[in-house]
Amino acid sequence: MNHALDSAVKSAEEILTWADEHVQGPIAVTLSMENTVLAELANRYLPRADFLFLDTEYHFPETLEVADAVEQRYPQTLVRATAELSKKEQDQKYGPMLYMRDPGACCQMRKVAPLHNTLANYAGWVTGIRRADGPSRADAPGVSKDAAGRWKISPLIHWSLEDTEAFIQSEGLIRHPLTTQGYPSIGCATCTLPVSPGDDPRAGRWAGHKKTECGLHVEGARS
Ligand code: SF4
Repeated sequence: MNHALDSAVKSAEEILTWADEHVQGPIAVTLSMENTVLAELANRYLPRADFLFLDTEYHFPETLEVADAVEQRYPQTLVRATAELSKKEQDQKYGPMLYMRDPGACCQMRKVAPLHNTLANYAGWVTGIRRADGPSRADAPGVSKDAAGRWKISPLIHWSLEDTEAFIQSEGLIRHPLTTQGYPSIGCATCTLPVSPGDDPRAGRWAGHKKTECGLHVEGARS
């Protein structure tokens, strides 16, 4: 891999344009629907990519509304990846509220495995990781290869929360309503609490557990 790219290419536009030119094969843009900055930028600079949303069945209703709005606004195909077991089937097999007892297992079944399975169809994936999201992401590269040897592209690594907000406003993007109600980082409704101003934006994710990442960006992905 060309590690020089990470320091030489800094803007989101440059990183996405590089991906468009250099990644051979289909690319998926992962969207958490927390905001739609990545959808807008991909539509401009990487329009051949698909959009990918992990529907865990535990999302806030507002998150699903944003997903529907993205599907309406952008021409890209929105792939909705779901877990092998429905929420009901998971409850029957593992007991109710697995997310409270073992969030790692729940995330593995409802996020990591569906992402892994879906990405089998793609040569690269685009993430919305920002280094400013917290200490666990402070060193995230703009371009790397994940554990499967697939291109992992993170065009927003240098963006702050303020940059994101300014872009949403100036471009009139679809806004997740909870981001203005104390939720700077939004995951499943069952595992996301609001945070106080000035706190680590991800402090409300899996509050009360040691867990800080769902596992999508952990395993060997930061080469
Ligand atoms: S964030 Fe919570 S509910 Fe969602 S998949 Fe992970 S543990 Fe399960």
